[in-house]
Amino acid sequence: MRFNEIFALEDVKKELLNGISRNRIAHSQVFTGPKGSPKIALALAYAQYINCFNKTKTDSCNTCNSCVKYSKLSHPDLHIIFPVIKTSKCTRSVDYLPEWRNFFTSNIYSSLDEWSNFMGDKNPFIYTHEFTSTKECVDSSRLTLYNKLALKNFESKYRVVIIWGPEKMLKIASNKLLKFLEEPPEGTIFLLVSDEINNLLPTINSRLQKTFVPKYTESELIEFYTQKFGPDVHGFSKKADGDISYLLSLQGSTQEIELLRDFTSWMRLCFKQDFLKLTNWVVSISKRNVIYQKKLLNFAISIIRNSLINNFVDNKMLLTSTDEKEFVLKFSKFVNEENSILLILEFENSIGYLSRNINAKILFFELSLQISKMLRIKSSKD
Ligand SMILES: [Zn+2]
Repeated sequence: MRFNEIFALEDVKKELLNGISRNRIAHSQVFTGPKGSPKIALALAYAQYINCFNKTKTDSCNTCNSCVKYSKLSHPDLHIIFPVIKTSKCTRSVDYLPEWRNFFTSNIYSSLDEWSNFMGDKNPFIYTHEFTSTKECVDSSRLTLYNKLALKNFESKYRVVIIWGPEKMLKIASNKLLKFLEEPPEGTIFLLVSDEINNLLPTINSRLQKTFVPKYTESELIEFYTQKFGPDVHGFSKKADGDISYLLSLQGSTQEIELLRDFTSWMRLCFKQDFLKLTNWVVSISKRNVIYQKKLLNFAISIIRNSLINNFVDNKMLLTSTDEKEFVLKFSKFVNEENSILLILEFENSIGYLSRNINAKILFFELSLQISKMLRIKSSKD
């Protein structure tokens, strides 16, 4: 990964390059910032740059021995740790590395949520044995990071350990990592990459040199989109709200159109209290998978929020695509201070029930009844 493969953010790149040129390369660092800013890509570009044999003032060469291995994410002195689903006593990131490489190289802006989806919408964690010795992991014959860190670097000046999503570390794992940060092995640099730095142990947090990676501005996303796909006729750059990965997912799928279509007909049937057609709607939605059903409910929450913004703030602040905006402008007449919280709570609770494998048909039918009542609640100010 080179710096110039990452769109914009010239100030952040400059700050990183300045630090390196002054030989200020801290052994414990964190790349932090809101979800959807390209922190993992920047951490990899940074790691490749400090190890490049022919670097220029602004980027790595991408052709030297080190860069070639880095660009394939296969350098022996590069270790990437990320949340995983446990399939055996000692499952570690390295067991998922081929999948992770494919996942990351297909979209360098990928988020942790997308990785969770990729893993089957489960909740992955970083487990303790990422940081323990081979002995403590009986079913593993390979050297663990712990064992490798005790050895000299294979071929590079800086061995780099990237930890993506350290907020997903179990507490015992955090304590093990803290030991490394307290007594860093020679020539080793830890680069944590985190959306939620406040969820790290304070003792870890306080040791990290921080690089803040901001989210993209709307005009940056419009430029990015236009360069890649042409004019943004759907208004996806606005909806993405600075999250470049989300922008790519909006562009890459027809699902947004499907969600709006399903939601529109659902609300229309609820409002009309047309229970026959509503039953048909519920049956068709209950046949979709849980991921889609949850997306629909999250979509519903975002429409309610945007309806409130439209009613009480300013429709210029709406974070919607063009088609959604058109819908929100009409639908917001039925959303008010009396029913909005109730609706959001119903949708949120339903997402929780879906996670517990409740029967989707019953859930969506009950929910539809509640919504049909709530949509008829008038604002007390009317
Ligand atoms: Zn190079």
